[in-house]
Amino acid sequence: MGLEERVGPEPGSRPERRSGADSLGAQGPTCVRREVRQGERRYLYWNLPADLSEVSVDVIVVGAGPTGLACAIEVQKAGFRVKTIEKGCVVNSLYKYPTNLTFFTTPELLEIGDIPMTAVREKPTRGEALKYYRRVASHYRLDINQYEQVNTVTGNDGDFVVDTTDRVGAARRYRALKVILATGFYDIPVRMSVPGEDLPKVHHYYQEPHPFYDCDVAVIGGQNSAAICALDCYRAGARVTLIHRHPELSPKIKYWILPDISNRIKHGEINAYLDSRVERIEQDSLHIQTPKGRVAIPNDFVLAMTGYQPDIEFLASLGIVFDGQTRKPRTNPDTLESDRPGMYLAGVIVAGMHTNEIFIENGRFHGGQIATDIAAKLGG
Ligand SMILES: Cc1cc2nc3c(=O)[nH]c(=O)nc-3n(C[C@H](O)[C@H](O)[C@H](O)COP(=O)(O)OP(=O)(O)OC[C@H]3O[C@@H](n4cnc5c(N)ncnc54)[C@H](O)[C@@H]3O)c2cc1C
Repeated sequence: MGLEERVGPEPGSRPERRSGADSLGAQGPTCVRREVRQGERRYLYWNLPADLSEVSVDVIVVGAGPTGLACAIEVQKAGFRVKTIEKGCVVNSLYKYPTNLTFFTTPELLEIGDIPMTAVREKPTRGEALKYYRRVASHYRLDINQYEQVNTVTGNDGDFVVDTTDRVGAARRYRALKVILATGFYDIPVRMSVPGEDLPKVHHYYQEPHPFYDCDVAVIGGQNSAAICALDCYRAGARVTLIHRHPELSPKIKYWILPDISNRIKHGEINAYLDSRVERIEQDSLHIQTPKGRVAIPNDFVLAMTGYQPDIEFLASLGIVFDGQTRKPRTNPDTLESDRPGMYLAGVIVAGMHTNEIFIENGRFHGGQIATDIAAKLGG
């Protein structure tokens, strides 16, 4: 259970005043600290001192994923001053993808800002995509604050106040006429909610197969990520068991991957339990409920490729309203403005929990939609 830092007032707990080296940043201003528990999470709230200097821009974009960059470019092209605030590095989610990932998408469908993208082969690699988005950001001279997390957005349309914590832990404050949220979905894994899920041998992110050589590895899931991960680990000398809760692997697995994984299962090279669920994870074993009853298998590592979800709690705290069933945030489909006037949503978060409906290919156009509306309202 990690400690997450947020900036902003949190009622109900006793304030503790800190200053000097103990305050936000070695030479940061004096702040008031409050630690708050909300369910599983612990938050550290830092109340800003009244004299903290503020930076004003026209538009703040939260998140420098492909969509956030596309938004920043389009709004900047429309003549506005834009600042993008990113809690990690530029395209942080893509940076965290498997090291040897090849995109499913051909390069032209990943392009933003009318900058052509090329790749050595038919589909770009992760490395080529990282290079491309770095190039685009520098070409447009985008104003991006990396390693700075947005904690709260207060105020109203035309006068939003954005509070952040920067890379050295110092509190910062910005004012903006409009705010665009493009915070993606890759930070929160969909959990299996079974005993043992928090053991160190269980991973919700997969980087590369080498550490799993000569080990008993269980891959959970039945989509592209699970299939790729199982094949990678099998080819790196792991003994792989694939566990999927449905009777068939997803028909949406890409056409060049599905025959490979299906044949490995058919030939017994990858062991598979379909229509099965993980019940419990122990240090050296995995317990599975299968159609034929309970099974325990030896296990060294679990790679849970069970998907990711947007930070609904964070978005709700900013005043975003969600549809009860789909968990899709309520937005105007033409402008992507949320129910909170002046605050827009962009990229995969527009799809709520249906994260496979919006990806880079289609999310990259959100910037144009939003910039058009902002220009119409602010007279750009
Ligand atoms: C393994 C894998 C392969 C994929 N392959 C493809 C593909 O081939 N083609 C395709 O089109 N799509 C693909 N996708 C999907 C695609 O990567 C996502 O749809 C896309 O990244 C969404 O872009 P985004 O800008 O909306 O969100 P993200 O790329 O997730 O960007 C959101 C950014 O916001 C930042 N952020 C979040 N909260 C805060 C905060 N509070 N303060 C500051 N910053 C914050 C995050 O650090 C992140 O950098 C793939 C996804 C995965 C997992």
